Amino acid sequence: MKYFELVKKIKDILLPTGGEYAGSEAEKITGIASETDSARLFMMMREEAPDDVCRRAVDIARARSEGKPLEYITKSACFFGLDFYVDERVLVPRADTEVIVEKAIEACRSGAKIADICCGSGCIGLSVLKNVDGATADMFDISEGACEVSLENTRRLGLSERANILRQDVFSSDFLSGGEKYDIIISNPPYIRTEVIKGLSAEVKNEPHIALDGGDDGLAFYRRLLDVCPKALSDGGAIMFEIGYDQAADVTSEAAKRGLGCEIFRDYGGNDRCAIIKK
Ligand code: GLN
Repeated sequence: MKYFELVKKIKDILLPTGGEYAGSEAEKITGIASETDSARLFMMMREEAPDDVCRRAVDIARARSEGKPLEYITKSACFFGLDFYVDERVLVPRADTEVIVEKAIEACRSGAKIADICCGSGCIGLSVLKNVDGATADMFDISEGACEVSLENTRRLGLSERANILRQDVFSSDFLSGGEKYDIIISNPPYIRTEVIKGLSAEVKNEPHIALDGGDDGLAFYRRLLDVCPKALSDGGAIMFEIGYDQAADVTSEAAKRGLGCEIFRDYGGNDRCAIIKK
């Protein structure tokens, strides 16, 4: 089979679920299977594709058509201009999350101490560290798998000396009770309402449920973090949450109940996405 025929075959596998993206994904998958970038693949279209490349491409396309995110197949996701290792143990970093990283970098002085709570792949905390001289981070997650992925990313990005990965449960009674102080506490906690999760796309359902489920009203983690984080903030420090597009009013009101001010910022899609909370 020639490469252009393989691309067509892959596109046909993807079409029922991939719709308008099937063509570009078919080229991408053929590129991954043949370990070729898209410019070279274009030059090879009339050459014969080896059997093992065809098999690999078909396997990837089948997994993809069942909703497996491409990032889990390539074990890599680009976030904030950095390459992160990802697999099924963590959420795929979203472009929408980059706004909270920008806000954190703006707010950090060099040498700042940050906490990234529910760190997953580590994409938020590590992106901040990469962009703030001498900053250090404690990065927490309850999932052992997520801690392993974060640790791997810490190594890959050369940040082992500045990031501490800690396996801890936000809801345990001693969480953040050790007197530690942070300049910035960042969190992209699970915030989807339990009821809504069932209706999400096949792609999102391939991601860890534990990273998405924010309880009956989606606010369980925000309430808990608003209870425990203020005492762990240094003077002038801030808590930064990623929030769902429809959670600005709820998070603002949970902050106000605790006497905390809350400012909301949008992502580049125009949705409310980031809450900055101060004492
Ligand atoms: N933004 C994610 C989504 O849309 C949810 C992330 C989260 O719950 N923290 O699937």
